Amino acid sequence: MLYPREIQDLVDEFSQFPGIGPKTAQRFVFYLLKRSPDTIERISCHLRNIKNVRACTVCGNFSGQKICPICQDKKRDHSVIIIVSQPQDLMAIEKIGDYKGMYYVLGGLIDTVQMSGPKQIRAKESIERLRDPQIKEVVFALSSTIEGEGTTLYLINLIKQDPKLIQRLKLTKIARGLPLGSEIEYADEITLGEALKTRKIL
Ligand SMILES: [Zn+2]
Repeated sequence: MLYPREIQDLVDEFSQFPGIGPKTAQRFVFYLLKRSPDTIERISCHLRNIKNVRACTVCGNFSGQKICPICQDKKRDHSVIIIVSQPQDLMAIEKIGDYKGMYYVLGGLIDTVQMSGPKQIRAKESIERLRDPQIKEVVFALSSTIEGEGTTLYLINLIKQDPKLIQRLKLTKIARGLPLGSEIEYADEITLGEALKTRKIL
């Protein structure tokens, strides 16, 4: 063994992280070895706290409490709900700062090629969430991939099977188009086609 057990154990742990190889894992440990005991204690504390993070029972977002602050916020618009695949997508929309409605996190997408996934993601649960009579609009904000489009269609189908839901809910999808600063001649056909379809009146 090259390193003392204390170092090697931590290198092995960091090596399991996504995108982190043994070299980077070693750099992390060497960095920590140079930190003060207070810093090490603070990091240990953060690591221990992460055990308490769970999925919000209403929206599925990461939360330190049973119901996350967004779902608890009475000032937010409870009539509109955005469906996203993962908590990171929710955070990306929150960062914009404009949206004040609610969310639902599916926890993944349906793999339409292997026809697997509806049971792995919270598809049925999302339909249950939409039974809340306050909700008037559902915005699908899933990736513009085969899986994302397939999942949107799957959920729309489930909603359409329920006359009460389809009567009350307005179903929308985020617009697809050209990224800011991009050149039309380099855009792929699907993106350009979508941009044209979702054109706006000026
Ligand atoms: Zn929540």
